[in-house]
Amino acid sequence: MQSTPTKPPFYLGIDLGGTKILAGVFDSQLKLIGTYKVSTKASRGPSGVLGRILRCIEDAIDECDLKMNQISAIGIGAPGSVNSGKGVVNFAPNLGWRGIPLAGNLSKKLNAPVFLGNDCSVSMLGVYHVELKSKPANALGLFIGTGIGGGLVIGGEPYRGFTGCAGEIGHMVIDRSGPLCGCGNRGCFEALASRNALFNSIRKAVEQGKKTQLHEILGRDLKDMRSGDLRKAIRRGDRLVNRLVREAAEAIGLAVSNLANVLGPEVVILGGGVIEALEHEMLPTIIRTARKHAMPGALTGVEIKASVLGDHAGITGAAYLARAELQAHRSKAHNTLHSSGNA
Ligand SMILES: [Zn+2]
Repeated sequence: MQSTPTKPPFYLGIDLGGTKILAGVFDSQLKLIGTYKVSTKASRGPSGVLGRILRCIEDAIDECDLKMNQISAIGIGAPGSVNSGKGVVNFAPNLGWRGIPLAGNLSKKLNAPVFLGNDCSVSMLGVYHVELKSKPANALGLFIGTGIGGGLVIGGEPYRGFTGCAGEIGHMVIDRSGPLCGCGNRGCFEALASRNALFNSIRKAVEQGKKTQLHEILGRDLKDMRSGDLRKAIRRGDRLVNRLVREAAEAIGLAVSNLANVLGPEVVILGGGVIEALEHEMLPTIIRTARKHAMPGALTGVEIKASVLGDHAGITGAAYLARAELQAHRSKAHNTLHSSGNA
């Protein structure tokens, strides 16, 4: 890879998840300079998590030999429903948050503009604008992690719908008699194919006496299971894990075929921690199932692939959001937070 010198102004992208916080420092061209990661510790409540976000930011900046006053703007993707205009996290079940003014609180502490978005919408910004260079006009992203979320780009613009909830693909009901979902429905896509769903079905099978190589990898207790452990188990010939991962991949393929029938995307991008860890195990099944179930012609010429940004989609999209919103605010001359102007 060719290394080009980093150029100010700098932007910070934060991916706030239920289990970890990842911060990335980017230059003016959104080239990643450095990252820092801490665990979220959501049980400590909003103010505890806010403190951990601040520490993560400080350490990420320090890793890059920069200072806070060299950061022009900060973008943050948070799980759940958010009000981007007000910078408020409305409801984040993974964090146990309701009505938290996250952007305002961070902005006050850091004396810099902070812009907030839903984590999957933000990841899609990173994938679409940085990885796909803002092409083609219609793109669909599926992010398979702890939960499942989607990102839609229609006509070159992020699509959020009338209520702002568009893209909640994790709660499409795929199997009405399937496992119970956190939202109260049965057989939601998320209840069939997310990391939590996979881990739950593995634990349940083990309780029923099914054998797995995971015990050799993790010991008796499967409490600290990670997606990468499933890959290791499959490579050791674990038939249980192989079957459950294949079933999850089939559910993802079904979701892709349904969404392709409705939306007609030109490209379908798969991201999130589960895909990053199990791309080679899952992608062929996802593509085969999607092509088998889509309407004839609906997926002709449509590319279905894994995001190369992987776990960095969230921070990249958050940095893109920070840069785009800052430019928009400046052009509207609404920027009252950061009047020194270091661009
Ligand atoms: Zn659901």
